[in-house]
Amino acid sequence: MNDSPVEINNILQRILPRVQKPARYTGGEYNQILKDWNNTKLHVCLIFPDIYDLGMSNLGLMILYDLINQRSDALAERAFSPWLDLEDQLRKFNLPLYALESKHPLKAFDILGFTLPYESLYTNALNILDLAQIPLFSDQRALQHPLIIAGGHSTFNPEPMHSFIDAFVIGEGEEVIQEILDVYSDWKIETLPFENIPPSISKSKRNELLKHLAKLDGVYVPKFYQEHYNLDNTFSRLEPIEPGAPETIRKRIVGKLPPPPTRLIVPYIETVHDRIPLEIMRGCTRGCRFCQAGMITRPVRERGVDEIIQSIQQSIKNTGYEEVGLLSLSSSDYTNILDLIHSFNQHFSLDTLSVSLPSLRIDSLSVELMQSLGLARRNGFTLAPEAATERMRRIINKPVTTDQVLETADAIYSNGWSTIKLYFMIGHPLETLEDVQAIVDLSKMVIRIGRKHIGNRAQVNVGVSTFIPKPHTPFQWTVCDTEEQIQIKLSMLKDQLRGKGIKLTWNPPDATFLEAWLSRGDRRMANVIYQAWQLGAKFDAWNDQRNLSAWQQAFEINQIEPDFYTHRQRAMDEAFPWDHISIGVRKKYLLQDYQWSLSGKTRQDCRDHCFACGILPKYNSLRKQNPGNAWKCPDVISREKSNQHDAIAN
Ligand code: SF4
Repeated sequence: MNDSPVEINNILQRILPRVQKPARYTGGEYNQILKDWNNTKLHVCLIFPDIYDLGMSNLGLMILYDLINQRSDALAERAFSPWLDLEDQLRKFNLPLYALESKHPLKAFDILGFTLPYESLYTNALNILDLAQIPLFSDQRALQHPLIIAGGHSTFNPEPMHSFIDAFVIGEGEEVIQEILDVYSDWKIETLPFENIPPSISKSKRNELLKHLAKLDGVYVPKFYQEHYNLDNTFSRLEPIEPGAPETIRKRIVGKLPPPPTRLIVPYIETVHDRIPLEIMRGCTRGCRFCQAGMITRPVRERGVDEIIQSIQQSIKNTGYEEVGLLSLSSSDYTNILDLIHSFNQHFSLDTLSVSLPSLRIDSLSVELMQSLGLARRNGFTLAPEAATERMRRIINKPVTTDQVLETADAIYSNGWSTIKLYFMIGHPLETLEDVQAIVDLSKMVIRIGRKHIGNRAQVNVGVSTFIPKPHTPFQWTVCDTEEQIQIKLSMLKDQLRGKGIKLTWNPPDATFLEAWLSRGDRRMANVIYQAWQLGAKFDAWNDQRNLSAWQQAFEINQIEPDFYTHRQRAMDEAFPWDHISIGVRKKYLLQDYQWSLSGKTRQDCRDHCFACGILPKYNSLRKQNPGNAWKCPDVISREKSNQHDAIAN
């Protein structure tokens, strides 16, 4: 058995020189937290099921690592997917996957917490359990196995992974993780020792834990529910089969954003974002109809300017990073954006600290913001019209005009940027080939504007992805384009968007279909995921690793027609496998929004009106529980914002 940290360390000394980037697997980075294992009651390992280089930039993981390690009774460590070379070595030496900090094997932890932001990580999660030598199926685990929990955006439809995860955490994790640890701690005290317990008692003790967890708001324990289907194979309902299991799982919302982590781990190797990630705002009120993040993260909550500045100062001191990302879904919608920029410029020198401000609106204010932050012109300026005709943008509820796009492009090129990145989607509902042709035309108009200002230095990078209908969005009823439709549209773009100054990139259709099958899947998809993994599927988010034939075989083995999930228009009154998950936004609001989209009717930004979607009553009840929450009515925020804009105009 190679199960002790000492043995694992010894074998690692031999195998790490044989793999690429050994620093992915050593731990020991600056600011890592290594607590005394034997004197800490609860052991949690946080797992991002892709490689270290990607997972180390995951903000959710950093937040939970910081919060759990603040508890005196708990420790949190980290694990990621090993790349193929290390996986070979682990299997060859029968070495269980381990956590970076203490080198304890994952199977020695009390709780393993998976972050699942997107569906193409599912097979990696299974692979990690397998490498950890933990049974993949929840019902095969006993007392000696860790509790497997998972959260993240993809778990707003947890059903495809219901067989593998003991409990899902729906929504924001900052508060509920503490409740889970408290429940686990009480249960552990009552249940110890775990050894020498007969299997039947072991299972019932584990069940006790799950029953306690199921009582927590926002925790979903799938084994306490039975699914039912209609004769036509559509989903019918999910029935609670354990007394006390709630019919609806309401997502968790934190009333006030807790202080951001500032003692960030500094990796030895380059990761996708080597910077301080500072979340300035959570949630989005724009209501783009394809956007799951915008729907599931409501309502908007903002951090104060002073808190942001102090956190940046603290983070620089703790890490030495020279870049900060001011993160949110829609940065220019942050109420006090001008104050923030002003204060930022007062406190920091742009010569020593660079800033990224992603997700800006298409308007001249965005150009002013980028300018006042001295944002790196070498990286280009990103605009995401998502569709190229005004008709299509009304359908998706992103009602910017073509003139706004062109005026913003003009402002960008005339202010010294040479590259504009334009993001579009193809395959939106009611899209015609004229809408696709318009992507070509609009991109060419933009490059002409660039050439007018800077000649042949002007560059337009056009990124095209294919629309995927997502749960909990107004488009959850609609269909995905077929492969033939996608290929026709991509050919039009590839034929015409070429030549000097224009570069086109696109998502391969197999990546689209994989995500589309899984995102609106039901419980029957769990066996498909398992079989695909057995047939070799993993690293499905990687274009050079995705194994579509494994997935196709897995569907065949399970006699499931993949098109049922992607190319079937849902009836307006169809029950969905994720209906038991409440995001606070009413289904009838989403349906009305879908119907509005079909007639090209747009919806106002919530900040300019009210929360017709239903999130406000839920949030108000949180405010009553915690009157200190820094909450403002969206109308007030909107008025304050327009005052600021007036101030710039004058
Ligand atoms: S602006 Fe639109 S696409 Fe962006 S987060 Fe908000 S709703 Fe989503």
